[in-house]
Amino acid sequence: MNSYELLLLVFKVEAKIVSSNIDLLYAHGKVNPPNTVVWDSTKKCNLDCIHCGSGGNYGEELSTEEIKNIIDQFSSFGVKHFQITGGEPLLRADFIDILEYAGKRGLKTSFASNVTALTKTRQNQYQKRMSL
Ligand code: SF4
Repeated sequence: MNSYELLLLVFKVEAKIVSSNIDLLYAHGKVNPPNTVVWDSTKKCNLDCIHCGSGGNYGEELSTEEIKNIIDQFSSFGVKHFQITGGEPLLRADFIDILEYAGKRGLKTSFASNVTALTKTRQNQYQKRMSL
């Protein structure tokens, strides 16, 4: 094993110890859950701003069922606020479904969008489902 490999091994072991300790502290109520979770729902965007790393895709983005399962976990952990960002979150076909689901699970919801895909009809739909 060379020195680089040894250093990498040390980092991996340390990362695992830190992660285990946080899990342990959380399990014993010593670490509060995050108040807010911001989810990058997609890397896709209909704009191409020069300063931004969005565009393309993440390869495998979370499915509707996967994010709903994670939202269930956030809710049980005591997370209060769930914000959906991107890329452009309105490009996800399941956007309203996810927003509504998070609200039903007791999370305050919001989203960050460039609003270019926002029609009056969709705006009304979102406003009915947003809890902020
Ligand atoms: S995600 Fe926002 S900043 Fe990035 S390209 Fe789209 S509109 Fe521009």
